Amino acid sequence: MRTGLITRLRATGVRHRRIVAAVCAVSVAAVAAAASHSQPSVGVLKVRLGGDSHQTRIVIELDRATRGALITPPTMGDKVAIALAHVDVPGDMQGDGAGLVKSWRVEEAAGAAQVHLELTRPAIVRRRFLLPPGDGLNVYRYVIDVSDQPAEQAAPQAPGRPAVQIAAATPSQELRATQPGPQARKLVHMARIEAPVAPLIPSRRVVVIDAGHGGHDPGAAGQNVHEKTLTLLAAEALKARLERSGHYKVVMTRTADVYVPLEERVRIARRANADLFISLHADSGTEPGLKGATVYTLSEQGTTRAAKQVFEKANWINMTLPGPDQQVNRILLDLTQRETRNRSSEFAETLLSRISDVTPLLRRSHRDAGFMVLLAPDVPAVLMEMGFITNSDDEKRLANAGQRRRLMDGVARAIDAYFATDIKLASR
Ligand SMILES: [Zn+2]
Repeated sequence: MRTGLITRLRATGVRHRRIVAAVCAVSVAAVAAAASHSQPSVGVLKVRLGGDSHQTRIVIELDRATRGALITPPTMGDKVAIALAHVDVPGDMQGDGAGLVKSWRVEEAAGAAQVHLELTRPAIVRRRFLLPPGDGLNVYRYVIDVSDQPAEQAAPQAPGRPAVQIAAATPSQELRATQPGPQARKLVHMARIEAPVAPLIPSRRVVVIDAGHGGHDPGAAGQNVHEKTLTLLAAEALKARLERSGHYKVVMTRTADVYVPLEERVRIARRANADLFISLHADSGTEPGLKGATVYTLSEQGTTRAAKQVFEKANWINMTLPGPDQQVNRILLDLTQRETRNRSSEFAETLLSRISDVTPLLRRSHRDAGFMVLLAPDVPAVLMEMGFITNSDDEKRLANAGQRRRLMDGVARAIDAYFATDIKLASR
């Protein structure tokens, strides 16, 4: 996936050094991680714990994918046992716990690894999910979250709520569509990649469309039209197309020619529990010959910036972190960001391949401030430059309702394909 992206960046003549540099750094880190795990294959590599006395996370690093099954009853209890199918245990693995976990051990039983947790007091398994390798981490991670709060009642599905969330997993690994509580929310998109046995209950995905600029900020200027006008028209076309399918709830960051600060756009995405955020822009260039569309995802530096915002600034992203324990918060945020970045890149790649039929492609750096809208740590996000408003062909194409619709059809097909992959991953 990442290799594919690098290839595409090069093939389309990227000049965006920042993103290329970030991708290269990640590749080097991945190679280093691969080398450090080059010993003979074992299943379980490491067990990590983090959290506090109310919510504790156990991360089991694995060299392969697995699916887990809860052995102990899905109720409050002082022991938890989970079997990980087709996973080897390299010998005696046990250790002291942290938070709600008094001690842990991993043992081999009937070709599976069994994870046993002794708890300090009755608690429940809130979620379990598998994270694939990504962004410099060359291992799979099976994550178990244990909480001393009984699971929230499964609320009726609110219209347009995203996703299927894995609440307390039952032995049959039944999936319930629940309305995520504030505690659960930040992990919802990661939970979706757990390997469930039961079919997913379909629900409408929330797509936030961000029409760039607006109001006193006109964006780039063409011969006949301003960027802010084209972005809104394109956003409206995409919204209509997505809503027609019946599969999406669409939220717009603006529906009129008004100015919406960048921070507010991110807040809108987070408040909406967005599954995907797409920001629409039109580029400007000093050379009138420059034309074509571009798709950007957040660079690694941008991700670091998001982490700083969450931890040090006035918390404008307003992310709900689970507890006062900074260490577990950092682990959660780190996992969330890696996953979000992977998924943003995945969507960017899909998007480029779908729109390449309907529009020429070209990549060029966008103003830094534009990246601010990609900063929500838990919402996969891309910024799309639909073309160059300073190029007369592109301007005509974007100003033409029919052409705009064709381009947005391509974007919508990419969104369909992206979520179709999501479901495939989830049912693997
Ligand atoms: Zn713009």
